[in-house]
Amino acid sequence: MTEARALKCPNCAYNLTGLTVNRCPECGGVFDPVTLAWVQSSDRPRWWVALPAVLACTYLPFAVWIPFQSQAIWFKLWLILPGFFVGMFLHPNEPLEFIVMAAVTLMVIVGGTYLASRRWWLFGVVCGVLLLGAGLNAWGSYAVSRV
Ligand SMILES: [Zn+2]
Repeated sequence: MTEARALKCPNCAYNLTGLTVNRCPECGGVFDPVTLAWVQSSDRPRWWVALPAVLACTYLPFAVWIPFQSQAIWFKLWLILPGFFVGMFLHPNEPLEFIVMAAVTLMVIVGGTYLASRRWWLFGVVCGVLLLGAGLNAWGSYAVSRV
């Protein structure tokens, strides 16, 4: 992948580099060169890079304590555990708690992936924050489940 790639029309892939008008001569599509340059730039993480990183940072800290768990419920909760601390404030084991936990988890993953694919430095910040948050969350979930 080259650093400075040619701008391409999002509709027809026509090479738009050097054009002085914001209209594709091939298909007539109007484009914003600044947005297009950013979207097609190679110096930001792509979502398919950001998503696995966000998933890893969100879920891997829980893997540390899962093997020590005897209660099968924790294995079932694995997917929504990142929402644990929010769900904890609701009545335990009610359907609403699980829905809220799932919603929080989804927001963390979608929001994290969105932010992490903006800029490389944001990518680092998001992964760091998620790792820290998930680490604390995993430790907290473990402590609570031991009671
Ligand atoms: Zn075009």
